[in-house]
Amino acid sequence: MRENKRIKSVIFDLDDTLIDWSGLQGTYMELFAPSYGNIHRHLREKGFDMPSFDAFVRIAYDSVVAEWTEKKKTHAGANFGDALQAALRACDIDPADVDLQELMRVYDNGPAPGVEPYPDTHDVLTQLKESGYKIGLITNAFQPMWMRDPELEAYDLLKYLDARITSGDTRFMKPHPAIYWRMLGLLDLMPEDCVFVGDRPGHDVQGAHNVGMIGIMIDPPHLDRGFEGTNPDYVINSLSELLPILNELD
Ligand SMILES: [Mg+2]
Repeated sequence: MRENKRIKSVIFDLDDTLIDWSGLQGTYMELFAPSYGNIHRHLREKGFDMPSFDAFVRIAYDSVVAEWTEKKKTHAGANFGDALQAALRACDIDPADVDLQELMRVYDNGPAPGVEPYPDTHDVLTQLKESGYKIGLITNAFQPMWMRDPELEAYDLLKYLDARITSGDTRFMKPHPAIYWRMLGLLDLMPEDCVFVGDRPGHDVQGAHNVGMIGIMIDPPHLDRGFEGTNPDYVINSLSELLPILNELD
């Protein structure tokens, strides 16, 4: 596996790096409301005295925003279970009376309508696999990885990944070094063996640089991000542009 080559692994961000959110149909609120509706119905069926559906979705949404706002201060990984517990407490439900894992299954996370891999995602990942690269995934998602796996399965991306972690599981989010070191441990590699590819320079590139890893920014046409104070080693507009860069690094 690339014994005499410089770069042994490519680690990717997920959203807007491997999958394209530009075609998302509807608002984020519309996207998540049915899943919170599943939880609302489930709790009612369990006999809990619940607020109205609309009120519960608002409570859940506010709890999620509060969770991200608080955890971002220290780059501690925002956590879906923590946000859910806050929403339950806001409904006067003691989280200890509820099976949180069951609620997360009931939530039934899946692919968002209109979101797809980029046209070249599968080709590029196939070529990387055939060239012997290990492929990692680090996403600043507050769900546990098992909740996002149905999306990866639906997009047929799971088969390429040697290791995958969310910040929700890790309890650290990019750009904190701890989440990069967790991935390096899973891949059994050092930072200089890897490149990281992501669309958010302040998270993806800065985090890579924090551990001494090459940081590549993907800047697809639908995003217009600045460099957020970072200095990416390379900037690409599509994943296909990665392959010549990796050849050059060898
Ligand atoms: Mg992203």
